[in-house]
Amino acid sequence: MTDIQRAIEVLESLVGFDTTSRNSNLPLIDWVEGYLDRCGVTYERIPDQAGVKANIWATIGPADKPGYILSGHSDVVPVDGQSWASDPFRLSRRDGRLYGRGATDMKGFVACCLAAVPDIKARRLARPIHLAISYDEEVGCIGVQDIIARIKRSAVQPAGCFVGEPSLMAVVVGHKSKRSTRVTVHGRTVHSSLAPHGVNAVEYAARLICKIRDISERLAREGARDPLYDVPFTTGHTGTVNGGIALNVVPGICTFEFEFRAIGDDDANALTEEVIAYGRDTLEPAMKAVAPEAGITFEGRSGFPGLDTPADEGVVALAKRLMGTNACSKVAYGTEAGRFSAAGIPSVVIGPGSIDQAHKADEFIAESEVAKCVDFIDRLVAQCAAG
Ligand SMILES: [Zn+2]
Repeated sequence: MTDIQRAIEVLESLVGFDTTSRNSNLPLIDWVEGYLDRCGVTYERIPDQAGVKANIWATIGPADKPGYILSGHSDVVPVDGQSWASDPFRLSRRDGRLYGRGATDMKGFVACCLAAVPDIKARRLARPIHLAISYDEEVGCIGVQDIIARIKRSAVQPAGCFVGEPSLMAVVVGHKSKRSTRVTVHGRTVHSSLAPHGVNAVEYAARLICKIRDISERLAREGARDPLYDVPFTTGHTGTVNGGIALNVVPGICTFEFEFRAIGDDDANALTEEVIAYGRDTLEPAMKAVAPEAGITFEGRSGFPGLDTPADEGVVALAKRLMGTNACSKVAYGTEAGRFSAAGIPSVVIGPGSIDQAHKADEFIAESEVAKCVDFIDRLVAQCAAG
């Protein structure tokens, strides 16, 4: 049995490291390595190319058997401009809640995992438990890709992965995929009195933006449905536009950004390609007829694969059994589970605390959530001991 107090003490240590994604996470990684050393657990540090950040991958138990991954990220979002009642990088305990940046997203889960390590180590496991602690999740699920590459080189693949993003310990089997794109429309600048001699970059951008809107309306009207989502269909939108310098100048350049967030039945990449094809086949010929140098460039920004784990997958049944529930749900936010799933590792999201508190001032996790997660990991460990 893991002591909740130990999980809170580990959380206190983790919150003390300012691992905002723009910073190095190595001080935290050093601390985790020291902790694992004291527990007698071997691990691998998987550094980034610049050597300023690292993931940790640890296996406890028989590495030649398919086991379960407990996965969490070490980075947190900035506190810039937020007004906190207490120091965000010092865990503060008030009214059954633990306040601090990352308390719920998601150092709370990582702390529960680490607190369980002495107990996991003391057991005779029939299946291994792996710990995956990543960097740069908050800026596009980047670090975890090297952990997955490391896993793919193993002779035996894991049976499943639990990603501990805050879900109030609900069993989450899906989230939408996302693809976002930056567009630059290059036109030709002329005085506005000579408008037909120019190529108006803002106007062509507007046509593309309307195309994105048309596709989004089509999806809302007649697209595939997944009732487990609050918005049960694929969505698209344009978030920023920049163009034009003065009313009497035909604008020569316009940039904008758009995204699609797709349910499992749709493909955000295919929808993006539909926008690109419209630009290439319909708009560019008209632009180039006036000015050969005119054109449109599309640049992929961030994105992540969706999660759509079938309800009959073993890892889903296991998570439900361990939590004593029959329910599963889908969420609006993206997680590393999409990347594990895309790599062929069946994954669910299940973690303590609420996403409502993530990324905000006075982020907290309820102590009762820590207790629920500690119990969940204890039951998983017992399951792995039993075989
Ligand atoms: Zn997170």
